[in-house]
Amino acid sequence: MRKYIFVTGGVVSSLGKGLTAASLALLLEKKGFSIAMLKLDPYLNVDPGTMNPFEHGEVYVTDDGMETDLDLGHYYRYTSAHLSRTSTATSGQIYETVIRKERQGDYLGKTVQVIPHITDEIKQRIVQAGEKEQTDVVLVEIGGTVGDIESLPFLEAIRQFCYEHSADTLKIHMTYVPHLEAAGEVKTKPTQHSVQTLRSIGIMPDLILCRCTSSLSEEIKAKISLFCHVPPQSVFDEIDVKTSIYEVPLMLHRQGVANRICELLSLPSKEVDLAEWERIIDRVRNPKATLTVGVVGKYLQHKDAYKSVFEALQHGAIEAGYHLEIRAIESDKSEEMGGCDGYLVPGGFGKRGWEGKIEAAKLCREQKIPYFGICLGMQVLVVEFARHVLGLENADSTEMNPTTTEPVISLLSEQQQVTDMGGTMRLGAYPCLLAEGSLAMRAYGSRSISERHRHRYEFNNKYKALAEKHGLLLSGHYEAENLCEIAEVQDHPWMVGVQFHPEFKSRPTEPHPLFRDFVKAMVSYAENR
Ligand code: GLN
Repeated sequence: MRKYIFVTGGVVSSLGKGLTAASLALLLEKKGFSIAMLKLDPYLNVDPGTMNPFEHGEVYVTDDGMETDLDLGHYYRYTSAHLSRTSTATSGQIYETVIRKERQGDYLGKTVQVIPHITDEIKQRIVQAGEKEQTDVVLVEIGGTVGDIESLPFLEAIRQFCYEHSADTLKIHMTYVPHLEAAGEVKTKPTQHSVQTLRSIGIMPDLILCRCTSSLSEEIKAKISLFCHVPPQSVFDEIDVKTSIYEVPLMLHRQGVANRICELLSLPSKEVDLAEWERIIDRVRNPKATLTVGVVGKYLQHKDAYKSVFEALQHGAIEAGYHLEIRAIESDKSEEMGGCDGYLVPGGFGKRGWEGKIEAAKLCREQKIPYFGICLGMQVLVVEFARHVLGLENADSTEMNPTTTEPVISLLSEQQQVTDMGGTMRLGAYPCLLAEGSLAMRAYGSRSISERHRHRYEFNNKYKALAEKHGLLLSGHYEAENLCEIAEVQDHPWMVGVQFHPEFKSRPTEPHPLFRDFVKAMVSYAENR
């Protein structure tokens, strides 16, 4: 029988529930089970694609082109779970489906209500999540904090689901146990209240994970056990990690959390081997030296806006054995630039900060500093090259200047003089063929690759011959539509722009080849400075 684990959060948001869910999934995978992940998000947006990164952080994209919550990025980095549109559902999607069914007359004269129509739809998504890959375990993370009005339908659906499949379900509640300086002790009251709220909805947690600053005493665990109606051996602490977020699975493992989960779900338990994760932490703790990378973007105040990019950079640095300092450079303050061992311009939309990003590319090209452009960052590389090497002063992207006379980056509809197909986003995985002898080919070690996209504008092939003649190698193509996916400046140690988002496919255990090589290029630059 397939098992289902539900992870809820209490007391405050930002407890690291996503990281925890991903870490638990990793431990279960190491125990030999196949896992499916599902993130349930209480907001009403159908997907986070339309949300501002200032507010919600990064939008993560799956192979099948779903725009999702950034927690799916954590799931990718820690596990090998297959992620797709069945790995995520928002209230917006659930309601949209139910309302569409109602309009089609599917409910035949019934009054359509939260219970049972919305809750049935949620339960169906939970079942669906595990079906496609026939996984052993489905791990469901519920966004938000228990007690929020928005998450009530999800919690009600989980209550029903657990009632209907009681032997195969497990409810984990993650809470916060603060240490109050003034009182000189830790406080369990917020946890007690959070569990009370959960119980008033009809959910009894089976296991409690307490986020805290230092290890909880047996006495405190006993108190939480008593007040929260959970045996003491099911109360665990999750201490703030010191070195890296990749310590979380190790820390949970040391306490035997996965063993306890298996015991509660009657799953056969085997030893877990986390040697490769130990090695990662070891490298993080003992770096050869420090590198500094400048990330030039415009959503840098939100720490999660470029989550996957930051993580992928760290993966490259861990592999190289270096400590990486990421300097956030606001793209409209280009005076802050200079002094870094390399620059990365990540994805983005809109005009603000555009010229500052072009400055960054110019600095890197002229001074032969490693440059990595992702999506918008590739468009920046191309426009800078066109302006300053090809001498096309007015070169621009039509996103920034719709009337430019040199649209080196533009919408396909503009390139092909068709007006009714613009405005559609290119989303999800596309194959890409690499040119022999290119930096990209050297990184991947293979001619055909697949990467994920999320953009509207494209390189304009009208400029291809001219650009190549002057030393811009267009080294990757989506052949079916003759789209140019990668641009490399030739007379330069490492200046590469990619139209896709490689950061979504990097793991600490398997750094993405382009991030790995970008960091290597920074190492050589730093050594020869
Ligand atoms: N704004 C650019 C486009 O739509 C780049 C998008 C991105 O960087 N994700 O093509």
